Amino acid sequence: TALPEGEAALVARRQAALGPAYRLFYEHPLHLVRGEGVWLYDAGGRAYLDTYNNVASCGHCHPRIVAAMAEQAGLFASHTRYLHDRVLTLAERLLGTMPAEMGHVMFTCTGSEANDLALRIARAATGGTGVIVTENAYHGVTASVAEFSPSLGSGVPLGPHVRTVPPPDPRRFAGDSAQGFADAVQAAIDDLNRHGIRPAVLIVDTIFSSDGVFADPTGVLGPAVAAIRAAGGIFIADEVQPGFGRTGAGMWGFSRHGIVPDMISMGKPMGNGYPLAALALRPEVIAEFGQNARYFNTFGGNAVAAAVGNAVLDVIADEGLIENARTVGAGFADTLRDLARQYAGLGQVRAAGLFLGVDVETDGHPDGARAGRLVNGLREEGVLISATGPKGHVLKIRPPLTFSADNVAFFAERLERVLRRG
Ligand code: PMP
Repeated sequence: TALPEGEAALVARRQAALGPAYRLFYEHPLHLVRGEGVWLYDAGGRAYLDTYNNVASCGHCHPRIVAAMAEQAGLFASHTRYLHDRVLTLAERLLGTMPAEMGHVMFTCTGSEANDLALRIARAATGGTGVIVTENAYHGVTASVAEFSPSLGSGVPLGPHVRTVPPPDPRRFAGDSAQGFADAVQAAIDDLNRHGIRPAVLIVDTIFSSDGVFADPTGVLGPAVAAIRAAGGIFIADEVQPGFGRTGAGMWGFSRHGIVPDMISMGKPMGNGYPLAALALRPEVIAEFGQNARYFNTFGGNAVAAAVGNAVLDVIADEGLIENARTVGAGFADTLRDLARQYAGLGQVRAAGLFLGVDVETDGHPDGARAGRLVNGLREEGVLISATGPKGHVLKIRPPLTFSADNVAFFAERLERVLRRG
């Protein structure tokens, strides 16, 4: 169906002004102008329940965070080459949420930059260049990080120093996922070595979001982390998606796996909409890089970013958002499992807190086209989600952590409407 005139004009202007590399969500693109809590509003004033955008983890346009941002922007808004306490407070508070082995935090503006910096540091620390990632991982947009982001597709080739392993999906490994995953990592290490490439990094998103959301079993990373370390490499936990309480099991996804990373990258929800990201690391990892290189990022960790980051931590604590993610998320997963029993199109539900994935199937086989119809159907019903996984067949549901049981009921009612249509 043709777009309304106003929207068609925006699409045309967008193509002309932004060029050909951008992609819009939805067959019928959304023109959003306002956000509040779990709701987004389009130009016509229609409300949409946001169950997808995990940047606004504290809720869209949270007044306390907006106030902190505005106050600091009106006071002092410059970078980290002057003394300023707020960025130090933020680093100290972040470290306080992590295992004692983590000693420093370095600030960036995006998750991509954090992973790019992690790679530079790992190369210096290990003397290697090899990178191991999961099959459909996404870690970011810089030249070096896009080279190890297979979810960008065949148009963005992996680097010759990159090897992929399956995500720890129990269905892929008969029996022991932890051992199966570690064996795959070891095979990748051996292959790098055979090609004369010294392994530097194993990096995983600790809930395997773009691989299809593999929340369980917990504890699967230990043997693989041991394998990369034994090969002289470093383990990086990419917490850009699961971090900041979304899994309902503390602040960080890696803690569900009982391991301590060498570096931790984070971003998205860290600024609740303000561009704020970081890399935390063990001091010994950066010893070599710190001697020979300097690091400065004009906007990373600027005073406004620091004020925002502190306000986000305040809101997560004061509003009990991790606890809410745990309890509301558990109810949400139960609701989705009930629906999956009633509707053949829905398969396995995988979830940790308010990070949920649902397989969409036809006759037991992954069906990305059907998932796409559900995503677009929900948009028409006023609910925003997306799909992920190598075949685009996994519904990806990540609402703000302020989500309520009423919001879950609303979601379920709308999803049923769409499911009934087939
Ligand atoms: N890592 C993961 C797991 C991500 O999902 C993303 C963003 N989708 C990134 C890194 C890159 O973050 P950014 O878009 O802020 O550069």
